[in-house]
Amino acid sequence: MAAKNYKFNTKTIHGGQQPDKAYGAVMPPIYQTSTYAQTTPGGHKGYEYSRSANPTRTALENALASIEDGEFGLAFGSGLAAIDAVIKLLEPGDEVISTNDLYGGSYRIFKKIFEKFGIVFHFVGMQGTDAIRDKMNSKTKLIWVETPTNPMMNIIDIKAVAKLIYNKNILLAVDNTFATPYLQMPLQLGADIVMHSATKYLGGHSDTVVGALVVKDKELADRLYFIQNASGAVCGPMDSFLVLRGIKTLHVRMQRHCENGRAVAEYLKDNTKVEKVYWPGFSNHPNHSVAKEQMKDFGGMISFVPKGSNYEDAIKIVERLKVFTLAESLGGVESLAGHPASMTHASIPKKEREKSGVVDALIRLSVGIEDSEDLIADLEQAIG
Ligand SMILES: *Cc1c(COP(=O)(O)O)cnc(C)c1O
Repeated sequence: MAAKNYKFNTKTIHGGQQPDKAYGAVMPPIYQTSTYAQTTPGGHKGYEYSRSANPTRTALENALASIEDGEFGLAFGSGLAAIDAVIKLLEPGDEVISTNDLYGGSYRIFKKIFEKFGIVFHFVGMQGTDAIRDKMNSKTKLIWVETPTNPMMNIIDIKAVAKLIYNKNILLAVDNTFATPYLQMPLQLGADIVMHSATKYLGGHSDTVVGALVVKDKELADRLYFIQNASGAVCGPMDSFLVLRGIKTLHVRMQRHCENGRAVAEYLKDNTKVEKVYWPGFSNHPNHSVAKEQMKDFGGMISFVPKGSNYEDAIKIVERLKVFTLAESLGGVESLAGHPASMTHASIPKKEREKSGVVDALIRLSVGIEDSEDLIADLEQAIG
């Protein structure tokens, strides 16, 4: 049976993989080499130079394509390098419509790097498609969706956005970092490009920085491959190996992230010292029905605002946490807490971030796979 027909959990382990041709190694060896011997100029075994291709990276790229239900995977040196490659598909004058509530680094590369090359970015709320329609014109070439959004946990209806731009020569890219293909499959919902910071859940162990793109279309894959090779932001063999190993347990980790996420979210909701909790699993979350439709479960990312707290109070709470580590990043086996206003979202002007709800007291949790009782006890002592 072709791996294409396997169900998801089987794909995480076997998708795109085969024992190594040299000795039958079950895990792809870490081909830590820059170059490959040729018998005559051009006489090689498919690999010439490791910026262009490396067998360990190929193994990861095949696994990525398999789990996202795409045809082609591309692995980059970081999530931002993957985003960089997508924007390089565009020309000066082209316009991008992006979610307004998105990863701070994505906002930064759009505004501070690509705007000066003449690409125009519009940041809009995408909980309905009206705001996207308002900004669409003949120059629109790309819609950039992040869902669930970071850190406000808004949900964007991928299918509805895909429908809006159907037949319009506009690409739809979805940052699937928070959901992972365990929860949500953007290509099945009509997206053209899936992007990942594989640094997060795909790697899953906070031990590497890697980015990924997955597409279905051969021509689009060729254009992205050209950019990947020409610009050179590839991921190395060791990092490829680490993400490959991470992907093999993605489904079991995600199952526990979701269980613990639910337990922590419910605890916070019932805590009288907490003013607001953002988690798409609550039935009163404004986009709960869309989340239920396009996601298998609700994940382990939660944001909350402690009651009556300001910037300094929120910082004191995150400093008091012991099981949760105060750190940037997310998606690892260990629980992390962050303060977006001073950390991940510090590069977004206060006025801009507060428009989307990223207030000074907001705290973001990446709920890990420890015992949920310990996580809840830790939050209890920190929120005090
Ligand atoms: C971390 C992150 C990125 C950037 O990825 P890096 O691997 O850090 O470059 C992009 N989008 C989201 C949602 C992220 O969480």
